[in-house]
Amino acid sequence: MTPFDTLVDLLSAARRPVVFTGAGVSTESGIPDFRSPGGVWDRYAPINYRDFLADPAARRETWQRGLHTYPVLLAAGPNAAHLAIVELERLGKLACLITQNIDGLHERAGNSPGLIVELHGNAHTVRCLLCDRQYPRADIHRRVEAGEREPACEECGGWLKPATISFGESMPAEAVRRAEEAAASCDLFIVVGSSLVVYPAAGLPELALRKGARLAIVNASETHLDPLAEVVLRDKAGEVLSMLVERVCPRLASQPA
Ligand code: NAD
Repeated sequence: MTPFDTLVDLLSAARRPVVFTGAGVSTESGIPDFRSPGGVWDRYAPINYRDFLADPAARRETWQRGLHTYPVLLAAGPNAAHLAIVELERLGKLACLITQNIDGLHERAGNSPGLIVELHGNAHTVRCLLCDRQYPRADIHRRVEAGEREPACEECGGWLKPATISFGESMPAEAVRRAEEAAASCDLFIVVGSSLVVYPAAGLPELALRKGARLAIVNASETHLDPLAEVVLRDKAGEVLSMLVERVCPRLASQPA
């Protein structure tokens, strides 16, 4: 039995599978991840939340970087991995889709917004840190392109920030609650394209394991949870997930209703 066959069996038997995605699910869409060679950290040092609040230069740097990084997100479309996860939902094989990604591609691919938990926010929205008013990112991006270096809220003059979670910033409480509930109640937890080094998000597969779920990891490189996983596939997410759907779909069709 190959590791892929094991994954097919695990998913076929699962009643409440949860998929947990990281930046690696979107590299095949042309969005670089953080930690692979050529990834985001090779080009930019992270700007943490405290610096954003305390230092005008950090705020200006955030928006200047966005001039280069946001068009990449805008131009990217869902890839085979995103589309396969939509199929998992259609097949009744997705209790919850927890993502660390900020690119909004799962929703664009067609997964139901109610099933998606975005742990690290969404780069297509900007919010005011003072009054919480939200703006479409494209509108603020245009203002920065036109020369505003530190865009402020039209309503109250507060600082605007992309609605993504920076290092040192609290995670959105409701998203964390939903993700923990899903991890604690699933029977199969499938990691796709995450190095599992960013906590607290990376604590979710550990929670699922403690509660008795089985763990499957589809990731191009090694993770520290590989030894605890029932199956590890070090292949491209798009290929593995498309093949998985192809194999699981006929099995489900042949099962008695
Ligand atoms: P990471 O960069 O730490 O790890 C990505 C992992 O995906 C790596 O281990 C890499 O080997 C693997 N990978 C790359 N391409 C793959 C492919 N085609 N198939 C399978 N595996 C592949 O990313 P992370 O674990 O998600 O954590 C870092 C943080 O990065 C997250 O919090 C997220 O918010 C942020 N991020 C998001 C995006 C995005 O929204 N697309 C992009 C970059 C970073």
